[in-house]
Amino acid sequence: MKVYVKVVRESEVMDLNKAVRIDEDNESIKRIKERCINCGRCKTICEEVVGIKYDNEKAKKAVCINCGQCILNCPVASLVPKYDYKKVLNYLHDTEKIVTISLAPAIRSSIGEGFNLEVGTFLEKELVGALKEVGFDYVFDVTFGADMTVMEEATELVNRLKNKKTLPMFTSCCPSWVKYLEIYHPEKIDHLSTVKSPIGIQSSLLNTYFLKMNELDKKNIINVVVVPCTSKKFEIKRTEMGMDIAITTNELVMLLKESNIDITKTTPSEFSPLFSKGSGSGTIFGRSGGVMEATLRCANYLLTEKDKVINFLDLAENNKSGTIKRATVNIGPYNLRVAAVTGMPSLEEILKELDSYDFIEVMNCPNGCVGGGGQVLSPIAKMNEINLERGEALTKDDNSNNIRFCYKNPDVINIYKTYLDYPNSPKALKIIHTNFKDRSDILGE
Ligand code: SF4
Ligand code: SF4
Ligand code: SF4
Repeated sequence: MKVYVKVVRESEVMDLNKAVRIDEDNESIKRIKERCINCGRCKTICEEVVGIKYDNEKAKKAVCINCGQCILNCPVASLVPKYDYKKVLNYLHDTEKIVTISLAPAIRSSIGEGFNLEVGTFLEKELVGALKEVGFDYVFDVTFGADMTVMEEATELVNRLKNKKTLPMFTSCCPSWVKYLEIYHPEKIDHLSTVKSPIGIQSSLLNTYFLKMNELDKKNIINVVVVPCTSKKFEIKRTEMGMDIAITTNELVMLLKESNIDITKTTPSEFSPLFSKGSGSGTIFGRSGGVMEATLRCANYLLTEKDKVINFLDLAENNKSGTIKRATVNIGPYNLRVAAVTGMPSLEEILKELDSYDFIEVMNCPNGCVGGGGQVLSPIAKMNEINLERGEALTKDDNSNNIRFCYKNPDVINIYKTYLDYPNSPKALKIIHTNFKDRSDILGE
C-alpha cells in the first residue's frame, strides 16, 4: 500500500494577519500550527475583548498577557495551554518527594464539567478525596491564601486612605492585568496594591511557615497549584512567587482521568491542616466583584470594628456590557468610590476618569476567574452563560458559609498569632508583599 504524506509548510497554515502571534518561549500558551484554519477568531478576541494591540514590526517579541482567552475561543484547539501535569505525575511517582497541591477557589465550581456533571456543580470535599487518592501528600485550599490577600489588601487600603497616599488603589491578584499595566501604563505602578496574589501568598507561606512547622527541607518538597488561569504559569516565574508548578483546571481533569479516578465516586475528604479553611469572602475571589466585596467587608471591620456583609453586586450600577460595575459605599468616615472592571478595553475607560475612584478591582477575564483561560472548554456560544452559572455557585457557597469574613478564618488568625504578627507588619511586608516592574520596552517604541 502506498502512503502519501503531504508536506505542510508553515506559510501554508499560518496567517499572522489572522492568528495571534505566540512566541516559542510563551510561558502559558502553545500553538499547534497544523490545526489552524486561519479563522481569525483568536486575533479578534485578543485585540477587541482582551485589548492587546501593538505594532508587530516594532515589538521586540509577541505582546501577550498570558490570559488564554484565545484558547477558549479557538474552534479547532490549535491554541492550547502549555501542559505541565505530566511533570506532576512524575513527582507523584518519586518516593523521595513530598508533593503538596493547593486548589484555587474557582476550580470547585467548574471541575465537574470535565466529568460530564451539570454546569455549576460545586465539588470540594470530593475533589480533596480524589487528590488524596491520586497520592498528593497534602491538599491545601487557596481560599486561605485569598483570605490572607484580603487581610493585607484591606489594611493597605485603609492605610492609604488615612495617610492620603496614592489612590485609587488597584487590586493586583490578576497577573494578566498586572502585566498589562507594566507594559502599557508603567507610570501607574504605584496604584497597584503590593500584596501578593492568593497563590503568591500561599507559596511564600508554604516555603517558610509550613516547612518550619513540619521540620521539612525545601529540597524534598514540590508545591503544585491548580488554577483556572493560564497566566499563573507566567506568574509563578516572577521573582518570589515560588510555586513549583501551576496546572489548569483542564489539566487536573486529564491528570485524574489518566490516574483512573472518577471524581463522582471518590470518598470525600477534608483539606490538610494549616491552610485548610477559607471564608465565604475568599471563595468569591473566583468571580468578578468578589475581591471588591471581600475587601470592603474587611475594611469596614478595620474602620468600625463591626461585621457587615457588603453585597457589592447588589449595590453596583453596571455599564451596558456588564464589564464595569460602579458604586459608592459608605464605610466608617469614608464614602468610598469603587469600581470592578473586567477586560482591558473597559479598564482604559476607567483610566480616563481615575480621579473619580478610591479603589478599583481589575480582572482580565470575562466574569473574572470563572471565565479563565485554563478552565474546562465549553461551547463558544454558551461561554458567558456558563461563566455566570459558575460564579453563581461561588456566591451560593459564600451565602451558606458559616464564616463570611476573612478575619474570622481560624487559620488566618493562627498565622498572624504564631508567625506574621499583624497585617502589613514588617514581616508580612517582607514575605507576602511584592513589587512590579516596567515592561514597556517590549513594545519597542
Ligand atoms: S493569551 Fe491573551 S494576550 Fe496572549 S495572545 Fe492569547 S488572548 Fe492575546
Ligand atoms: S482561532 Fe484557532 S483556528 Fe482560528 S486563527 Fe486562531 S489559532 Fe487559527
Ligand atoms: S481574571 Fe483570573 S483567570 Fe483571568 S487572567 Fe486574571 S487571574 Fe487569571
